[in-house]
Amino acid sequence: MIENPFIVRPHRFGRGLYATRRIKAGGLVLRFRGPLIDFERSRNPRFECYCVQVGPNSYTLTWAPERFINHSCEPNLGFLDDRELRALRAIRQGEELTFDYSTSMAENAWTMECHCGSPRCRHLIGDFVDLPVDLKTHYRELGIVPEWLSPDFERQQLAARFEGRILGSYPVNGNGRGNGNGNGNGNGNGNGHGKTVSGGVSSDNPRVRYIVTLRRMSKKSGASS
Ligand SMILES: [Zn+2]
Repeated sequence: MIENPFIVRPHRFGRGLYATRRIKAGGLVLRFRGPLIDFERSRNPRFECYCVQVGPNSYTLTWAPERFINHSCEPNLGFLDDRELRALRAIRQGEELTFDYSTSMAENAWTMECHCGSPRCRHLIGDFVDLPVDLKTHYRELGIVPEWLSPDFERQQLAARFEGRILGSYPVNGNGRGNGNGNGNGNGNGNGHGKTVSGGVSSDNPRVRYIVTLRRMSKKSGASS
């Protein structure tokens, strides 16, 4: 990747990334750069909206311009590893670049309304584990689900949720950090969930909703979150 094949432009919900040239199917488009932080730090209101989950308790605090990528329920990008996004199909110049935030979310703590406009819009975006089974299977078959978000990890997360625990409070077994892709700091991800602007909510809303959800869950679990 010599230079980014995209630019930041105003979007109906804030900002978004738009292709500056035609992108071939399968091509690497974007890599989330930035320091790794844990769940607690990711909840800092100053940057919560820019964190992409890259492991069970690990986030990239993303840099610009890639932090402005929006969610879509019918994305044209998907994860190559836990931090890189590739084109799922040929993308035209001028098209907005999107990925499905749920392909990098496992928190038991955050949801976001979606108005992406796709006929397949799920309207409420949350953790990967909550996707319809067909869609999960489809995403896994496409190979765009980061390794840390394994079926085994899904089971751990569900068990924790059953007990009302949010991320950071449920056990993380060996398959946690480190997705074994041998790139050293290896637990990459995404928006997972880039909690940037959603495909439809102003950039401020997700955080508010997130905090509200956290409080609700904390109350239920009695945890101090
Ligand atoms: Zn949607």
